[in-house]
Amino acid sequence: MPQEPVHINAKGKKQNSFDAIVIGSGISGGWAAKELCEKGLKTLVLERGRNIEHIKDYPTATLGPWEFKHRGQMTKQFLEENPLITKTAGYGEDTAHFFIKDKDHPYVQEKPFNWVRGYQVGGKSLTWGRACQRWSDFEFTAPGRYGYGEGFPIRYKDVAPWYSHVEKFIGVCGKADGIESMPDGEYLPPFDFNAAEAAIHKKISAHYSDRHMVHARWAHLTEPKEIHIQQGRSKCQARNRCMRGCPFGGYFSSVSSTLPWAKKTGNLTIRPFSVAHSIIYDEQKQRATGIRVVDAHTKKITDYFATIIFVNGSALNSNLVLLNSTSNRFPNGLGNDSGLLGTHVAFHNYRAGVGGTMEGMQDKYYYGRNPTEPIIANYRNLHKQDTNYVGGFTTFMGAHRSRRDGAELAQTIGGAYKDAMTEPGEWNVYMYMQGETIMKRSNHVRLSTDQKDEWGVPLLITSVGYDDNDEKMIPDFINQSLEMLEVAGCKNLTQYDNHQAPGLDIHEMGGCKMGSDPKTSLLNEWNQLHHCKNVFVTDGACMASTGNQSPSLLYMALTARAVTHAVEEIRKKNLKS
Ligand SMILES: Cc1cc2nc3c(=O)[nH]c(=O)nc-3n(C[C@H](O)[C@H](O)[C@H](O)COP(=O)(O)OP(=O)(O)OC[C@H]3O[C@@H](n4cnc5c(N)ncnc54)[C@H](O)[C@@H]3O)c2cc1C
Repeated sequence: MPQEPVHINAKGKKQNSFDAIVIGSGISGGWAAKELCEKGLKTLVLERGRNIEHIKDYPTATLGPWEFKHRGQMTKQFLEENPLITKTAGYGEDTAHFFIKDKDHPYVQEKPFNWVRGYQVGGKSLTWGRACQRWSDFEFTAPGRYGYGEGFPIRYKDVAPWYSHVEKFIGVCGKADGIESMPDGEYLPPFDFNAAEAAIHKKISAHYSDRHMVHARWAHLTEPKEIHIQQGRSKCQARNRCMRGCPFGGYFSSVSSTLPWAKKTGNLTIRPFSVAHSIIYDEQKQRATGIRVVDAHTKKITDYFATIIFVNGSALNSNLVLLNSTSNRFPNGLGNDSGLLGTHVAFHNYRAGVGGTMEGMQDKYYYGRNPTEPIIANYRNLHKQDTNYVGGFTTFMGAHRSRRDGAELAQTIGGAYKDAMTEPGEWNVYMYMQGETIMKRSNHVRLSTDQKDEWGVPLLITSVGYDDNDEKMIPDFINQSLEMLEVAGCKNLTQYDNHQAPGLDIHEMGGCKMGSDPKTSLLNEWNQLHHCKNVFVTDGACMASTGNQSPSLLYMALTARAVTHAVEEIRKKNLKS
């Protein structure tokens, strides 16, 4: 939707001046860049990592398992040197190049917290899981209604059009299921249930009135539309090698979608290897004027200037940049009059799962490697609080055929062994949780006062942990899920609580929360800092509660919404250069 350009800094200004600067080129930064550039703003995207070009920089995208030096595994030495990042879901020899190494980017864990990062153009959009459910009003309002937080100053109706805007562009497959706790979006056709999933769906639907098992809502092009073809993307091939980068553009990433789209406008400048050190605040103008940048290699410092700034470094990095942006006016971090910057950091509770086997259907298989998972929408604490904890959980699940039993295979040899290997084993079923957690002041991040990284930025200290509410949610999830598996006729039921450190969920949020009261929040309902209106924070740092849906779709929607507001404010001259 091209509009009249707003070239605030177009003429006669320094080479380093732009209309807008975006920190970070991942999921939310890519969206900020696309929307700003489309609206005619000369936009600089600062990215601390290397450049990644769609297709060209996906070195493992088409490799077979036998083509990896270590058959996909990391060496013992590498695992010992990188005990944190190598625990990330999907991390392996095929994806390692899209993640940081532990020793290059240290931080201080006051409590165990596994901070997962991907420092490159595209950020974690290259490796994300792609689950894209909308939040419902239950999630926007529950913290306030049940007294475990203030929640958001906005409601589902405020975001719904922006969800549609984003879904249509990125391409989300799914089905309109009419579920109250998981509103419908603009969907491409879903990946269908396989035979076992269809059988489970039938049993669960017949037994429960409140449990809705539905097709995945995932950012995959099952049937590309014109807008996707214009992006140069094509149909998902169900290769399930998404985390290596998809040469087909079958799933959404900034690298395949928003960034090239922004580039086509002629308004985009991306500067890789540019570490945003801090936001520059001009005391006289009473606004932020730009960003101080450290070159990742030379360590040279350069200032870049703009009328508006979007902070999209991903939740904890955005907190870090804001905390490091000190001035006489803001000695404790930009916009931090409330003293709350860095507090109320939260995550999703991913600790527990269950499994089982299903008899029968030995003549049934499936085509391709489905890169998505069916979802059971949250059924807890909706209209009333019905458990001994607050919040709810989304359940992801699936069924697949395993390899033949090892002991059975061991009985065969030669050609018979090879023949036996071509036969799949029994059906295995799994479910795992994505649980809401409570945002609270004590779960926080702050800057180290005595340790800096090699770019002169103080190390981040994470002090974030589970609480009693999280502990109570786990057995309820396990009991309910086991019961559903039993109802579905599963056998050999198993369960786990992996006690993983927070952070491994990779849904860290908060620290710069949105709210209507500047005394208890940092951002207003348009993601603007209450006390520095030309700075917008639209990644997970802005979250005022965690909900139980996957969060990235909301970051994208909020980003697009905030850009539109920012440009309106510029046109009304409420934001000036
Ligand atoms: C394995 C995995 C599975 C996931 N599954 C899902 C899922 O199914 N659904 C879902 O909703 N979410 C999922 N996520 C989470 C999702 O990836 C993040 O929520 C999302 O990427 C956040 O977007 P962002 O723009 O805030 O951050 P990112 O995408 O991480 O991008 C941030 C960018 O900022 C750059 N940066 C940081 N600091 C600076 C600085 N100081 N200066 C310059 N640049 C900087 C980084 O290098 C990076 O490129 C998953 C993540 C992973 C890794």
